[in-house]
Amino acid sequence: MNEALEPKKTYDPSEIEQTVSAQWLASDAFKPRVDGHGAYSITLPPPNVTGSLHMGHAFSDTIQDILIRWQRMQGKSVLWQLGLDHAGIATQMVVERQLDAKGIHRRDLGRDTFVEKVWEWKAESGGMILGQMKRLGLSLDWSRERFTMDEHSSHAVQEVFIRLFEEGLIYRGKRLVNWDPVLETAVSDLEVQHEEEEGHFWHIQYPYADDPSKHMVVATTRPETLLGDGAVAVHPDDERYRDLIGRELILPLCNRTIPVIADAYVDPEFGTGCVKITPAHDFNDYEVGKRHNLPMRNIFTNTAHINTEDFIPEQYQGLDRYEARERMIADLEAEGLLYKVEAHTHKVGRGDRSHAVIEPYLTDQWYVAIKELAEPAIEAVESGDIRFVPQHWEKTYFEWMRNIQDWCISRQLWWGHRIPAWYCADCDHITVSRDTPACCGGCGGTSIRQDEDVLDTWFSSGLWPFSTLGWPENSEEMEKFYSTNVLVTGFDIIFFWVARMIMMGKKFTGKVPFKDVYIHALIRDAQGQKMSKSKGNVVDPLEMIDLYGADALRFTLAHMATPGRDVKLDVKRIESNRNFMNKVWNASRFVFMNRGDARPDATIQPVNDVNRWILAALNDCARGTHKALEEYRFNEAAGLLYNFIWASYCDWYVEAAKVALYGDDEAAKEETRVVMLTTLDGWLRLLHPICPFITETLFQELHGNEARLVSADWVGDYASDDQAVSRMNRVMDVVSAIRSIRGEMNVAPGKRIEAQIAADDAVKAELASQEKVLMSLAKLESLEWLASDAEVESAAVAPLADARVFLPLAGLVNVAEELARIEKNLLRAEADVIKLKARLSNPKFVDSAPEAVVAKVRGELDEHKAKYEELLVAQTKLKAL
Ligand SMILES: [Zn+2]
Repeated sequence: MNEALEPKKTYDPSEIEQTVSAQWLASDAFKPRVDGHGAYSITLPPPNVTGSLHMGHAFSDTIQDILIRWQRMQGKSVLWQLGLDHAGIATQMVVERQLDAKGIHRRDLGRDTFVEKVWEWKAESGGMILGQMKRLGLSLDWSRERFTMDEHSSHAVQEVFIRLFEEGLIYRGKRLVNWDPVLETAVSDLEVQHEEEEGHFWHIQYPYADDPSKHMVVATTRPETLLGDGAVAVHPDDERYRDLIGRELILPLCNRTIPVIADAYVDPEFGTGCVKITPAHDFNDYEVGKRHNLPMRNIFTNTAHINTEDFIPEQYQGLDRYEARERMIADLEAEGLLYKVEAHTHKVGRGDRSHAVIEPYLTDQWYVAIKELAEPAIEAVESGDIRFVPQHWEKTYFEWMRNIQDWCISRQLWWGHRIPAWYCADCDHITVSRDTPACCGGCGGTSIRQDEDVLDTWFSSGLWPFSTLGWPENSEEMEKFYSTNVLVTGFDIIFFWVARMIMMGKKFTGKVPFKDVYIHALIRDAQGQKMSKSKGNVVDPLEMIDLYGADALRFTLAHMATPGRDVKLDVKRIESNRNFMNKVWNASRFVFMNRGDARPDATIQPVNDVNRWILAALNDCARGTHKALEEYRFNEAAGLLYNFIWASYCDWYVEAAKVALYGDDEAAKEETRVVMLTTLDGWLRLLHPICPFITETLFQELHGNEARLVSADWVGDYASDDQAVSRMNRVMDVVSAIRSIRGEMNVAPGKRIEAQIAADDAVKAELASQEKVLMSLAKLESLEWLASDAEVESAAVAPLADARVFLPLAGLVNVAEELARIEKNLLRAEADVIKLKARLSNPKFVDSAPEAVVAKVRGELDEHKAKYEELLVAQTKLKAL
């Protein structure tokens, strides 16, 4: 035995993970191999540089690494593209908060200095994230790190903006947008969360201009917006108000009048049937205002304070929106114009970053005319060029894409890609240019200034699958790795990101950016709650790696990757998978200590049933795992491996192999050593994509330190072997039956007992061929073969499908206890018989259930009846003792 190859006695994940990780990195193991046959690529969804990785990242990244490592082992040239996202608004907020804590506002620093601070933070956060990814064992190509704001990506962003602008697909327009008054920027519809909140309905009287003693009553949840009212609208068919259409009303608190207009948008059944119209502060009113040519009166500043336009009464100017609301309510009441106030629950939109109440706000923004981009993207999924897994997410995608609105891409932020557009002081021309222009493209004047805004962060993310590969250049990587094979992501960003990548990819490369979209569930805590810092239920992946090792965490995550919306993460499962890793380690150690001079040999054709069986089982496991991974059923792959390694290999095979290893048949011993090593070699390869560290370590112990599992091949084929499998299944059935009786009767684990087996000659022959193994595993002192109809007095009986196992009770068992056991089983059997009889006497069941089901129940009844009879016999015998 080679002492140098013996792994450490106890499994210490932190030590092996460090060693292995350093080896991989030093050998550039994650770069695409040049001699690969076929290519495979995944673009890592770039994590935001907003802090550190959470469990959701660990989950998604582990799934991708499993695919990448598995494909690398198929001999392909594999690229897993790494990068980080600048995450515009999110990152700017992180840095603003840090400055806030020091009492500094970003405006105090100025744009350039602030952006420098964000770059400093990016270096810090990005470094931390990359370190965490390495701890998790991700086999990303570390030499190809990209950032959405690096030179290359910025170039691609600019190119796309300019091409779309030149085609007329990017335009500038004054529109109502969702305005975040805390972040002072436009945000997209997707960034607004609408939730029910308690509020009020204020009913306000608007007096007639020509007869102020009479009035109309309108109800509103935002009374302060009346400052910007342009009209009161009623439904054209509403008899109550028909005569009022065209009449003027006095706008309360303001020294001006507004007309009553008719518009079918008004629901006459709702409230009073009169609606105030504030075109500049409500999306529906905006459309009504455009139809009726109403003035668009903006009442707010960027921070949602009342502005100082001259149509606004002086006493409200400069007030915060909620302060203004209170003052105006008080004034309305004082003037007798507040008709009534009702409590009212209604939907309020809040910014998903700032949680501030969003205001519809009229501003100049840049838009992408999206319909033309959306059509080919819809077609790509309809035609099957892109496949969603699970498929039902296609429906979600189609629904959104078919109702898609133009995309507002400008953001009033400092952190991001600045819009390459220049405005002229002397004319209306907007100069859009790849380089900083010297003068206006319209009039040639030199008084030009660049747009202050930056692009929505999803603009650069939308180009990610091809901008990272060298687009717009026709690079070798584009040629080889684009389209990528699969995008792995959560359903929460199908619209933000997946849809936009498909639109941009089709538009600029003519190809789909990825062929499959695997949508995984979102990770919840053990109780199914969303993980959040405020709830204190966050499970930190790094902490889990420190406690249990990366392999145990990865195995747990793979095992949890079921199709569905949510998965629950229970830390206990990571702990128990750490025990699985221990089992893997200890079993392998046993194998190494008993290997002699043997080496794995994939071509071996063993004669011994135990050896033939385990190779056939390895083959089944390999095929099953491969198929499960092909179909993105990660939980199934993990389950197959768990059962094969723990049960088939460690519990059954290694124990059964001891008979040959410790015996004196040299040929059997040698064959068993080789098969033991060959099977170990096989399942280390199969388990590697999920648990790379422990398998790499053991693989090097198995093959010598120069060997590298990370760049080794997948498992080869072994013959299936029905005969050996059937024999070993019989042996395992008998052993399990004996073990279960031993357990029930509290026989000491080490105690050897006697057994007798009654069966026909064919079954006997199969079992007898593995007599030594059977005796060793069941801890038998002696084994006697009986005729198939033999009976044994005073013995516990295990009735199997085609054999009966008798364990003589003398000296083995406490008669009173055994009687109690039989009594208990009799009661159970009786209850089963009654239950099944009742079912079969129910005409509803017998007449309506499928014939096969009824037949199955009849069979079960017969079985339980027979069992009952047998137990009665055993009871009688035992009583006679
Ligand atoms: Zn000009």
